[in-house]
Amino acid sequence: MQRRLENESAGKRIGFVPTMGALHAGHLSLVKRADDECDLVVLSIFVNPTQFNNAEDLKNYPRNIERDLELIAQIKSDVIVFNPGEREIYPENYAVEPIDLGKLDDLLEGKFRPGHFTGVVEVVRRLFEIVKPNRAYFGLKDFQQVAIIRLMTKFYELPVEIVPCEIVREESGLAMSSRNERLSDAQRNDALIIYQALRKAKEMIHSHEIAEITETIEEMFRKSSLELEYFDIVNPETLESLSNAEKGAHACIAAHCGEVRLIDNMQLI
Ligand code: AMP
Repeated sequence: MQRRLENESAGKRIGFVPTMGALHAGHLSLVKRADDECDLVVLSIFVNPTQFNNAEDLKNYPRNIERDLELIAQIKSDVIVFNPGEREIYPENYAVEPIDLGKLDDLLEGKFRPGHFTGVVEVVRRLFEIVKPNRAYFGLKDFQQVAIIRLMTKFYELPVEIVPCEIVREESGLAMSSRNERLSDAQRNDALIIYQALRKAKEMIHSHEIAEITETIEEMFRKSSLELEYFDIVNPETLESLSNAEKGAHACIAAHCGEVRLIDNMQLI
């Protein structure tokens, strides 16, 4: 990968899209944006074991490299696909001191997926080291991840611009996710409650207290087949819970739909 990029990228602006594969229109929107803004696009497909805090989740994560390559081949421009093995990313005895993510690691996802963001930082840092992108594209679907990657690039003073990209949804409103592949048709339908809850919060934000909104959303989930893990309205930068509405207030949700854990978020004001 490094040799190829050395040969091909001289004087070119490299746009990078890191993924774990099982590609869908959300991933492709990142590739399209990178293609519009850069001279060369690299997409990586690597299911990073160190960011899974649950062995079953890692085992069940959808993988379909042939279909991924077909999807990428349909894009008009050339995209360099990097599909490394685990040893390429983590050579034997590879060890990097984890950085302190501060509060960002204790809130929202961090609370429920211990070690997840340490793994994310580790793999993205390593991928950046190999690809050396000028710009890297991340979906706001993983809202907290964008904040953590920003913190990481600042910490290491990496010369890469982090570009956050809008969430791509199904027509129904369900946020696209590789994990949706594991939902039955009925579950896909039930999972719409996540989007409905976010819309409800947005509708209520100007006329209700945050505590009332939270109670309404929790009640919606109690009546549904999904199990709510958290619903939180947070400051978009610190990700700390808000008790009063303010500009930029952002609602974040995680919920279990059967065996599948889904996340979503929406700016409310
Ligand atoms: P993943 O393969 O799930 O690790 O995702 C790779 C990248 O695609 C991450 O930056 C995600 O935030 C982004 N992504 C995943 N789903 C969506 C979506 N529905 N809309 C926009 N970006 C997404």
